[in-house]
Amino acid sequence: MGFFDRLFNKHPESCKCGCKDDKKEAKKDAKAAPTKAAPGKALPVKAAPKEAVNPLDAFPLLPGAPPGGKIKLAIYWAAGCGGCDVSLLDTAERILTVSDMAEIVMWPIAADGKEKDIEAMKDQEITVSIINGAVRNTENEHMVKLLRKKSLLVVSYGTCACFGGSPALANLVPGGKDEIIDYVYKKCPTMKAFQDTQKTPVVPKTSVMTPDGEITIPELYDTVKSLDQTIDVDYSIPGCPPTQESIAQLLAAVAGFVYNGVALPPKGTMIGVTAKTLCEECPRKKEMRRITKIVEPHEIDVDPELCLMDQGILCLGAATVGGCGAKCTRAASPCRGCYGPTKMVSEMGASVFTAVASLFPVLDGDPTCNEEEIIKIMSSVKDPLGYFYAFTMSKSLIKRSVVEKKKGGQ
Ligand code: SF4
Ligand code: SF4
Ligand code: SF4
Repeated sequence: MGFFDRLFNKHPESCKCGCKDDKKEAKKDAKAAPTKAAPGKALPVKAAPKEAVNPLDAFPLLPGAPPGGKIKLAIYWAAGCGGCDVSLLDTAERILTVSDMAEIVMWPIAADGKEKDIEAMKDQEITVSIINGAVRNTENEHMVKLLRKKSLLVVSYGTCACFGGSPALANLVPGGKDEIIDYVYKKCPTMKAFQDTQKTPVVPKTSVMTPDGEITIPELYDTVKSLDQTIDVDYSIPGCPPTQESIAQLLAAVAGFVYNGVALPPKGTMIGVTAKTLCEECPRKKEMRRITKIVEPHEIDVDPELCLMDQGILCLGAATVGGCGAKCTRAASPCRGCYGPTKMVSEMGASVFTAVASLFPVLDGDPTCNEEEIIKIMSSVKDPLGYFYAFTMSKSLIKRSVVEKKKGGQ
């Protein structure tokens, strides 16, 4: 019996909601649907009506508990900034209707479910676990593996969970966690001033004995991983944080399923993205101008209609999957690639680098764009690795910087 069937069986025989008919339809749909979507397969993004103020208006308030009883929902925050958790709270009154639909068994910022409560549950007893943040320490890994075991569905929510996000920039520190801890607790100017007042440096320990017993904290890993590099994931929602449109699609899919038995999207679906690049939904005019220097938005008077790349501002729209509605470029800020690559692109940084390089065609006898000039322009990109892999380091081919240890030195 598949998980769709197990969930459909939550509806009692006496149920009058029409779910039996829906069940037949849903089973047909499920049969017709591919068992596994191609990576990055997109749900169609519906254009919001012009007059709509809040995209969640398209998602109706839910009428009480589902016919088969409440589902169980867990929300976990791994290595991330908390913005993804807040984005769920941004659903305003819809979040209250979610509690009509679901018993929230864990949500550390809003509900009281504890690890031991999850451990006590039967395998796959949780219907959906929504996990945000990357996997960076022993606790993250333990919790996501536990939630995977106890859940029918796992949603990778937000860019950190999907691609490593900004926490994965730690992978660019060659000495890994030791170098990071050493700098953060001993060498950065504010901590150095403090440490200079101590007899021995004060640094975090993973285990400390106290009169009341042992206190432990999670151990950092050298390499930050995305969620799907750690556990099997059913759906992904990129965005830093995901947009309200994406959240509306997720809620609509889950509500349609638990209230009406509508089949869920195929496994592997990336929710809230289009099949095209961000450039294709960006309203800015592209003239493919040759640029002679790279600038930051605050250094120029940004033309409100012209493509930012045409103005010398590095924008990653050409290598980023569409779906956000070009939120940043509409506000005169370059795209930094938080939605991740299109399915045609496996290596985001290299793809962006190629797109940028194509703006500098080398022509015979052209004194303004010879090799020396191009190297000079490209050298002005501050922190190219950090810029091109700002959100996707875990999923890059590079993965991380390393220190090569040789005899007699590094
Ligand atoms: S994806 Fe962005 S908003 Fe979400 S946890 Fe990561 S950094 Fe924060
Ligand atoms: S490069 Fe950036 S600004 Fe230019 S069209 Fe693409 S997304 Fe828009
Ligand atoms: S424009 Fe780029 S960085 Fe901004 S929200 Fe969209 S995908 Fe993310």
